Amino acid sequence: MNVYLTFDIEVWCNGWDDLDRVFPASFERYVYGRSSHGDYALPKTLELLSQHGLQGVFFVEPLFATRFGQQHLNTIVRLIRDAGHDVQLHLHPEWTDEALEPLIADCATKRQHLSYYTLDEQTALIACGKKMLEAAGSGPIHAFRSGSFAVNADSFEALRHNQIFLDSSLNRCHAVSAPDLLQGHDLDTVFEITGVTTFPVTVFQDGFGKDRPAQVGACSFAEMRDALWSAQRAGAAHFVLVSHNFEMLKPGQSQPDWVVVQRFAQLCAFLQQHRGTFTVGSFGEFDALPATMAQQPRAGWAATGRRYAEQAVRRVL
Ligand SMILES: [Zn+2]
Repeated sequence: MNVYLTFDIEVWCNGWDDLDRVFPASFERYVYGRSSHGDYALPKTLELLSQHGLQGVFFVEPLFATRFGQQHLNTIVRLIRDAGHDVQLHLHPEWTDEALEPLIADCATKRQHLSYYTLDEQTALIACGKKMLEAAGSGPIHAFRSGSFAVNADSFEALRHNQIFLDSSLNRCHAVSAPDLLQGHDLDTVFEITGVTTFPVTVFQDGFGKDRPAQVGACSFAEMRDALWSAQRAGAAHFVLVSHNFEMLKPGQSQPDWVVVQRFAQLCAFLQQHRGTFTVGSFGEFDALPATMAQQPRAGWAATGRRYAEQAVRRVL
């Protein structure tokens, strides 16, 4: 089974009111996450991956740099590329109205989701992001994930116009993720739409029967392990995991969240140990079209119970 360890890399200023003052500290936290224990944002993520010989896919958000300068994007891309990982395009169009130079004609108000823009606007925003990443040294951009998993049918058309034929924007746990495509697609398996092959984020059933996206910060390691084995046994060809540059940090701080750090370290060790069964790599490396998923992956109740216990510990710490 092909496993994609994907990371959405983005910088936020915790609001939109005082961007230029807040940005330097935000950039430090989101990119490095420095603490007396080490740098638990990008540097620790990259370190754990290379320690275990794993290849990550880093969907990097470039539009923040239309406000603060391309050099900040260059720094992020260089960190990731120097560690030997794949950089692809992530896009949060809520930066559009904050750009110093207008990216599209209608940027008077903030519109959060890509799906709130016309086809032409989506095409222009994706083109802008792609150009910025390539200028930062990403190498050719051929895969995409939309911010907040928000896409519609036009987004795939816009990707095709930009020669981007691989996508991983769908996530069944988010209502803004292609509601107009729900008819006729189950959003659980890899499928092709207007020439673009999309790899949805894997959603498994937790021990209490609830849908859960395969996200490092949102599942216990035991749930992830159960879901991986269960997908593999069911004959799934692809399993898409998601994380972010800031998931190993406590909310609003640069201190490590040890529960999540341990989950991610355990996951990396597990994938290394079972590399004969789980092939970790980039989109486009493998034959795309899959055997359909026979059944949704599942985690056992003990694995989900473990998450509840971990959440309790995190609240206390
Ligand atoms: Zn994002």
